[in-house]
Amino acid sequence: MSVAHDRRRHVHIETFGCQMNEYDSELVRALLTREGFVLTEDRECADVILMNTCAIRENAHTKVYTHLSDLKALKKSRPLVVGVLGCMAQNLKGELTKQEPLVDLLAGPDSYRQLPTLIRNAVHAQEQGEHRKTLAVDLSEYETYDDIVPLRVPGVNAWIAVMRGCDNFCSFCVVPYTRGRERSRDPQSILEEARRIAGNGFKQITLLGQNVNSYRSGEWDFGRLLTAVADIPGIERVRFTSPHPKDFPPSLLEAVVSHPKICKHIHLPAQSGNDRMLSLMNRTYTKREYVALVEKIRSMNRRVVLTTDIIAGFCSETEAEFSDTYRLLEEVRYHSAFIFLYSERMNTIAARKFTDDVPLEVKSQRVTALVELQRRISAECNREYLGETLPVLVEGDAKKSHLQAMGKSDGNITVIWNKTDLACSPGQVVACSIYDASASTLYAKALGISVSSPSKSEHSCTNFVQP
Ligand code: SAM
Ligand code: SF4
Repeated sequence: MSVAHDRRRHVHIETFGCQMNEYDSELVRALLTREGFVLTEDRECADVILMNTCAIRENAHTKVYTHLSDLKALKKSRPLVVGVLGCMAQNLKGELTKQEPLVDLLAGPDSYRQLPTLIRNAVHAQEQGEHRKTLAVDLSEYETYDDIVPLRVPGVNAWIAVMRGCDNFCSFCVVPYTRGRERSRDPQSILEEARRIAGNGFKQITLLGQNVNSYRSGEWDFGRLLTAVADIPGIERVRFTSPHPKDFPPSLLEAVVSHPKICKHIHLPAQSGNDRMLSLMNRTYTKREYVALVEKIRSMNRRVVLTTDIIAGFCSETEAEFSDTYRLLEEVRYHSAFIFLYSERMNTIAARKFTDDVPLEVKSQRVTALVELQRRISAECNREYLGETLPVLVEGDAKKSHLQAMGKSDGNITVIWNKTDLACSPGQVVACSIYDASASTLYAKALGISVSSPSKSEHSCTNFVQP
């Protein structure tokens, strides 16, 4: 049944968390519009508000609860259906259905096809004056939404989820419980989607997966897929996230370091620099193996930008074990790092088997120490670009001033320049001469606009036309 004959319901979607959630919201937009729902950016005129949630860390979780309580007043003032989608819906179905009167519907990451029906049922129940919750939270071993064309927000970058779920069961992580078992999409459907994206004018594709480099479908591994996407005409840059250090065969490394359109950036989540912690986390590599991978990458191309994720204060982490992580940062010298304070997540191996015994104050001190160290290293790494000219993909206005433009280097570093330097628009590649650097940003003079595809590394920057 379509809502086309009914009054067309207006749906407002708010997205929390990672890029995978942004992508899932695009899938949900596509599923709802084809059933006659109208999407609105304005929550004030929405009949339905959907929150696509993240459960990965405590703060993501708290943000959603704060947001839910903000909706209470709105719901008192008029008929409104409130839905929770994604990882929190999956993990907290009991809590959300029993304790949260505000929530009318729940849909886990594998249940989005049922959303139009769930919404109609919830609207109908509300019109009848019933307080009934509708939910769909079964995990699937097969759902990849292969046939759904996401309704993308226009821009420079388009995401494609190439696999869903995760089988790694890192002991701290809730993903295998909220997103289910690992499954890869058919490569031909991914390539078709990528060609459509190129045809629609996007310049960059980011391949997504919880453990993206464990992608496998028949004869296709991740390296082959990445190369095939990068070979599609019209696409300037291809990125991927988040990979696991255990899945980097030589062929994938070779593709990253040598293909001119695959960005020279690898996010390599380490989590810890201590072997006992890594084993307790079930990361399946030792510090020595991890550092050997870093050295291999750098020996193949020393300009590859490396970034990481670190967890501080995991169960039973001692001061000496924490120091090993501190030393890992000093040793590897990442360009940047996401440093997280360990937060226990329901259902995980760590929650069931270990004690979350590092006091909050100690966790915070460790996070602060790592953040300070990383800021210094990031600033030093960025200063190495002073005097160089880099190809930068223009994204739009700088956050702090509309008089400045902003883009990303091949290594994913933010570059800012004055718009008076030259006229350029999002999607163009601009040659930027770097004259200053902070821990997070490169400041540049824009020299000219590229007339060809990007260069082989951030070193070279040829074929630019002067303004
Ligand atoms: N799949 C990627 C990998 O293998 O590392 C990571 C994906 S996860 C969505 C993003 C990051 O969140 C992780 O790398 C980890 O650092 C952090 N994270 C996950 N669970 C956490 C927890 N319980 N507490 C703190 N940080 C956590
Ligand atoms: Fe979570 Fe580990 Fe899977 Fe990454 S690889 S999503 S950290 S279980």
